[in-house]
Amino acid sequence: MPRPSLRSRTKKRKLVRTPGGRLVVHVIDKKHDYPKCAVCKRPLHGFPRMTAREEREGHRPPTRIYGGYLCSRCLRKGLKAAVDAAYAA
Ligand SMILES: [Zn+2]
Repeated sequence: MPRPSLRSRTKKRKLVRTPGGRLVVHVIDKKHDYPKCAVCKRPLHGFPRMTAREEREGHRPPTRIYGGYLCSRCLRKGLKAAVDAAYAA
């Protein structure tokens, strides 16, 4: 019997043939949903659906300020608003 977290039917399973010729069930990791922009809640560009492990090992968010947190449109709008506020004061 697999451990309780692997018994959930929402996890995908895959039959794998072992070198000894047995068929065994492997439980496939779930993929995370797309990260969303904190302002407009739309999915951020450039983020494929990945498992937690793939995210740890491979993916880097954009290197700009607020990269991986705000979409480029909301960031541009926010920066312009901040600059306008600074000049108005
Ligand atoms: Zn946005």
